[in-house]
Amino acid sequence: SDVGSQKERVVTKEEWLEKWEMGNIGFHKEQRHPLLQKYLDVLLNGRSGLRIFFPLCGKAVEMKWLADMGHSVVGVEISEQAVKEFFSEHSLPYCEEPVPEISGAKMFQSTSGNISLYCCSIYDLSSSIVGKFDAVWDRGALVAVNPGDRQCYASLMINLVEKNSTYLLVTVSYDPNKHKGPPFYVPESEIKSLFG
Ligand code: SAH
Repeated sequence: SDVGSQKERVVTKEEWLEKWEMGNIGFHKEQRHPLLQKYLDVLLNGRSGLRIFFPLCGKAVEMKWLADMGHSVVGVEISEQAVKEFFSEHSLPYCEEPVPEISGAKMFQSTSGNISLYCCSIYDLSSSIVGKFDAVWDRGALVAVNPGDRQCYASLMINLVEKNSTYLLVTVSYDPNKHKGPPFYVPESEIKSLFG
């Protein structure tokens, strides 16, 4: 497939923050993602009390849903506004603390302790800071990463998961010459080479 037109595209941190400020967040859905509902059993694979990671989490409502099931949810999101909206829209009390290993980063944690959202760039995280995960819900994440950063993103994700983890990835399929993205078109062949 010809993805040449998207290969060089860069969306800056400032542009993402501006999308949140302007309310230009068509990617956010109030309803739980139908594919997560459909494949929940695959994600959980009979396990309970999982550590579940939401890369580039926005204010995804599925975080609350999985936390209410007894799992422990960790997200990372560059927009502090998004993180604060998540807690306020679900009426969840939270506390906020700096992350000593990452300059400028903050961690927002629900008072009940089962939802922790890191406000920083995902590229600042490592397993020594956030630990490893049993499951990943990757929707609007790989496809939102700048095409030139995909390799770095995939290597990090591989590092952040336990051996027996499950990873659900949602992508979008369309003609990349007709839309500049994000979401970007990530061909299946590239997904295979990124994640092995
Ligand atoms: N996964 C969410 C949001 C998808 S949109 C959902 O399903 O609704 C992508 C999100 O990634 C935006 O909220 C944007 O602010 C955030 N983002 C972009 N680059 C990032 C980075 N390098 N680190 C962390 N978050 C980032």
